[in-house]
Amino acid sequence: MARYKHYDYSQMMMIPVSLAEQLVPGTLEHTIHFMVEEHLDLSGFDQEFKNDDMGCKAYSPKVLLKAVLLGYARGKNSSRKLEGACRENIVFMALTCGQRPDHSTFASFVSGMGEERIEELFTEVLLVCEEEGLLGGTHFSLDGLKLPSNASKEWSGTHEDLRKKQKKLTQLVKESVAEHKRNDRKGSDGEEEHRRIQRLAEKAKRIGRFLKENEPKMGRMGKEIQSNVTDNESAKMKTSHGIVQGYNAEAMVDSKHQIVVCAEAFGEGGDSGAARAMLEGTKANLEAAGCGAEVLKKAVFSADTGFFSNENLQACVDMEVDAYIPDPKFRKRDPRLKDAGRFRRPTDKHKKQYQSKRKTYGPEDFEFDDASGKLVCPAGKKLYRSGRQTRYGDYLADSFRAPKSACRDCLLRAKCLRNPNQTGGRQVRYFYLEGGERLTTQMKNKIDTVEGRRIYSMRLGNVEPVFGNIRAQKGLDRFTLRGSAKVNVQWKLYCMVHNIEKIGGYGATFSRN
Ligand code: SF4
Repeated sequence: MARYKHYDYSQMMMIPVSLAEQLVPGTLEHTIHFMVEEHLDLSGFDQEFKNDDMGCKAYSPKVLLKAVLLGYARGKNSSRKLEGACRENIVFMALTCGQRPDHSTFASFVSGMGEERIEELFTEVLLVCEEEGLLGGTHFSLDGLKLPSNASKEWSGTHEDLRKKQKKLTQLVKESVAEHKRNDRKGSDGEEEHRRIQRLAEKAKRIGRFLKENEPKMGRMGKEIQSNVTDNESAKMKTSHGIVQGYNAEAMVDSKHQIVVCAEAFGEGGDSGAARAMLEGTKANLEAAGCGAEVLKKAVFSADTGFFSNENLQACVDMEVDAYIPDPKFRKRDPRLKDAGRFRRPTDKHKKQYQSKRKTYGPEDFEFDDASGKLVCPAGKKLYRSGRQTRYGDYLADSFRAPKSACRDCLLRAKCLRNPNQTGGRQVRYFYLEGGERLTTQMKNKIDTVEGRRIYSMRLGNVEPVFGNIRAQKGLDRFTLRGSAKVNVQWKLYCMVHNIEKIGGYGATFSRN
């Protein structure tokens, strides 16, 4: 007959756990613990609490910050996951000394941190990076990551679109009420229908409130862009995974140990105007970290083609950095890639639906010829200026027209003209910043040199692994908060924990422990 070991759930077990021993030197949790205890000044949080005479004691901001940083590093970016970890995971228990803050405590801690306080903490971590010899200060690379936030793109539109949506919803409520009354007379319960009507009416009211309280949002070109009822600071953005409603999280990275020296999330999809804010932020942060006021002067700055714009190039000139930002066609001109094919696979099965519907050549397919002041079309023909120059905000626009004789027998007519059977010659409106042409041409010439290509090629290794770490290892696939200030706190916390990881791994004193 089989014999089994006896078991009894009413028995007691004594398991001695030393919390300090769970924080093993050399691990991320130990570095976070040490950094928060020894290097970060969290006294700014004290003014939040008015419980010196009455009320219960609050959780220490140090305990909360340690749990949030480790949680973000372990892919737990929601308050409920953090609460669960403090209950179930021995390392989190050790970090919080066995305390168990609930999800609402974590949520209000992160969302109430404020931009000023997170900026101070971010700079204090940078100061340690500098002391540990992790900052090189010679080459900085900038890149961005577009992530969805806590807002739905279905609630986006211009004010006119939203007014139409509100009208539709009000009409739907009216029809549903009439239907409800008819069903009522037939004796139906209609409880579910009643709730649906209330939901629709609430949606219509919400749009009405939004339209009353908010002005239309204006884009860079002075035209109205889409607002969002849930989070009006977020924007609709095109990504390789489709259209998202969210933020463009930018990070400036120092090349020596891939330390993030400036992090900022913008509610704008394009990168064409981001360089100035990021360079100024980098300068301020590095100055505060003790790197000196001249830290950016003559430093190399690289960014990908998304940043190629007059505005960004002008910012680089003003900040006196040695910039390398290629134009979108630089690979076509690269003699090393002359025989290379295209191997890019579509990353999204729905990608086709997001692709531009434009089939004809756009202004970006035309080159400006500095010598003649004319625009050169893909067939190599010169387009002459026609009409007057017009101004749109900071931009000037010139109209160009191709001679009919040039387009008449052109083999590219079908690709160039919207109505090849009717249109005589192509017209193009070309936008640029005043005095900006010179900068773009200079940059193209600089990138096309052997040295230019060599320096630019370093960008990939500098900045992309940082985004790979934050996105794939730390699992940041969306911001869970609303509003630019709160999203910025979350993004900086992620960049901060990335830097703390680097301090633990490569810091001169930390790595020896
Ligand atoms: S149709 Fe005219 S503008 Fe277009 S590529 Fe041909 S010649 Fe150039």
